[in-house]
Amino acid sequence: MILVMKNGATTEEIETTSKRIREWGHEVTLAKGEFQTVMGIIGDKQDLAGKPLHTLPGVDKVLEVSAPYKKASRAFHPDDTVIDVNGVKIGGGYRSVIAGPCSVDSYDNLILIAKAVKNAGATMLRGGAFKPRTSPYSFQGKGHEGLEMLAEVRRETGLPIVTELMSEKDIDLVYQYADVIQIGARNMQNFALLKEIGKLGKPVILKNGIASTVQEHLMSVEYVMSGGLNDVIIALRGTRSYETAMRNSLDVGIVPYMQKLTHLPIIIDPSHSAGKREFVSSLAYAGMAIGADGAIIEVHPCPSCALSDGDQALLPEDFAYLMDKISKLQPWNQRDWSKNFGKMQNSKFGDTK
Ligand code: PEP
Ligand code: MN
Repeated sequence: MILVMKNGATTEEIETTSKRIREWGHEVTLAKGEFQTVMGIIGDKQDLAGKPLHTLPGVDKVLEVSAPYKKASRAFHPDDTVIDVNGVKIGGGYRSVIAGPCSVDSYDNLILIAKAVKNAGATMLRGGAFKPRTSPYSFQGKGHEGLEMLAEVRRETGLPIVTELMSEKDIDLVYQYADVIQIGARNMQNFALLKEIGKLGKPVILKNGIASTVQEHLMSVEYVMSGGLNDVIIALRGTRSYETAMRNSLDVGIVPYMQKLTHLPIIIDPSHSAGKREFVSSLAYAGMAIGADGAIIEVHPCPSCALSDGDQALLPEDFAYLMDKISKLQPWNQRDWSKNFGKMQNSKFGDTK
């Protein structure tokens, strides 16, 4: 349930109303917009049946939210969320490209990649120290040593670090090093892990699952947010479909679709979608053109030496070319379009008034 407060509702009215709802045993979250405050009520709506919500002080409208996710929903938080990672902003018109190797291998490669991607305009460095591999015999990541390398490169370049957390047992370790914790496709529905990371207070990138729907992805985001964290970046890395042409099928149309449903930043991962270097840049360009808030892209100076995902790693010079193209883009703005779309639907074709 959502309570939309009247324009100019006083702090006292807002406090009295939220206090009353808490007394009824429900958690309340407030989203303060420029003109209006929206109050989200978490909990089973059946428990509120018969409660005089309309008559609480300062309440303008009572809306029932049909979506099962609440904190992630735009109804709950009409303004875009802007996430600040050590001064790097993403969301609400701020775009940020995260780049780096699939997995951290050597310090020399990592520093070379970090400097190159930073020069090209990337604002965060990615690099896996714990790798989810299909085969238990494949390289599993450098673990603690990899995290140390990331920290050293952060000291040298100032780039915030994005790194994957795979298991609850590594939470403390990864927490010490990461600026943004990445949860990968295979863990999108590891609900125990999602609940824990929501309590840590560090920004999270949550990728979609191997074959998840938009709603399942948003429910997983909700799991993280239910722990108290607001800073969740949604990453689209494509899904497995009947199409086998690319590694995964990336539907960039999900970007504007999700922007309608959620206030959180949405980024695309063209690397794990394409699976082949040749197609990574075109997918990245398409995702940014349609209005994604950023991208996460794998880059390696020697793809054939990379310990994972070498086939899809861009060379630093290809990444620089892509960034130059992206910087000249005029991305589609779905939110502005939606405002005009409403007006256009109400006017007759050819009506010039
Ligand atoms: C990765 O980012 O390297 C990774 C393993 O991605 P995904 O979880 O999307 O497969
Ligand atoms: Mn990878």
